[in-house]
Amino acid sequence: MWISMKKFTWIFLAVTVLVMACHKVAVTNRASLALMPNSTLAEMSAAEYQQVIQKGPLSTDVAKTQMVKTVGDRIKTAVEKYMTDNGRSEELKNYAWEFNLIKDDTTLNAWCMPGGKVAFYTGILPVCKTEAGVAVVMGHEIAHAIANHGNERMSQQMIAQYGASALDLATSQKSSQARGIFQQMYGVGAQIGVLLPFSRKQESEADKMGLVFMAMAGYDPSEAVAFWERMDAATGGGAPPEFMSTHPSNATRISELKAYLPEAMKYYAPTK
Ligand SMILES: [Zn+2]
Repeated sequence: MWISMKKFTWIFLAVTVLVMACHKVAVTNRASLALMPNSTLAEMSAAEYQQVIQKGPLSTDVAKTQMVKTVGDRIKTAVEKYMTDNGRSEELKNYAWEFNLIKDDTTLNAWCMPGGKVAFYTGILPVCKTEAGVAVVMGHEIAHAIANHGNERMSQQMIAQYGASALDLATSQKSSQARGIFQQMYGVGAQIGVLLPFSRKQESEADKMGLVFMAMAGYDPSEAVAFWERMDAATGGGAPPEFMSTHPSNATRISELKAYLPEAMKYYAPTK
C-alpha cells in the first residue's frame, strides 16, 4: 500500500511520541505527552524566571516572604522524598528551586515553572489566610511542575501549530518556535496572568497531587476545601488567571477535592 510522505511522517511522529515521549505522571500514573527535553524547559524557565524576579517588585514584607519560602521548602523536601522513595529522583535533576513573593495586591495568582521556579503574588495571600492556605496553592503549583504539565501543554501546542515537524522543533537546540510557545504559555514579558491555561484534566490532577504533597509536608489537606471556599467568595464564583477558563467551577472543584481527601489523608502526618 502506498502511503504519502505526509502520512508517513505523521505515523512516524505518533510512534515516536508513544515510544519516546511519554511521561508517567507521579502519584496519578497517567501517561502524558512530553516532546520537549526537560533540560531545555528548565533552561528556558531559569532565564524567564530571572526576568520576572528582576522586574518584580518583590514584596518587602519579610514575614510574608519568609512564609512563602518556608512552605515552599517544606513541600519541596516532601516531593524530593516522595520521588526518591519511588525511584524517580532522576526527574528532579534539572530542578533549581526558588520561591519568591511579588508585590502585587490585585493579582490573585501563583505559578511554578518547570524546574521548580515558584512565584506568588501578594494578592493571593489574603485568600490563603494561613500557612496551610499557602500550602494549598504551593502544593497545586508544584504539582503542575512535577506532573510535567508545562511540557505536555507545550507539546500539544507545538503539534497544533507545527504538526509533524513539532518533534524536530521541540528537540532542536534553542528552537525559537519552542521558546515562543514557552513565553506564550507563561506570559512572561507580556501582561501578568495571561498564561495559556492548563487543561481541566491537568487542573484536577494538580489539585489531587497538591493535596498529597501538602499532606506529606505536614499540612492538613482538608484546608484546601476552606481555601477554595474563600477563593469562591473573593472572586464571586469566578477564578483567577492560573485557575482560569478551562477549569471546572469552584463548586465542582471543591466536591472533587472532598472526594479525594481520604486518599490524601493517608499521607498526612502533622508535624506540630
Ligand atoms: Zn493550576
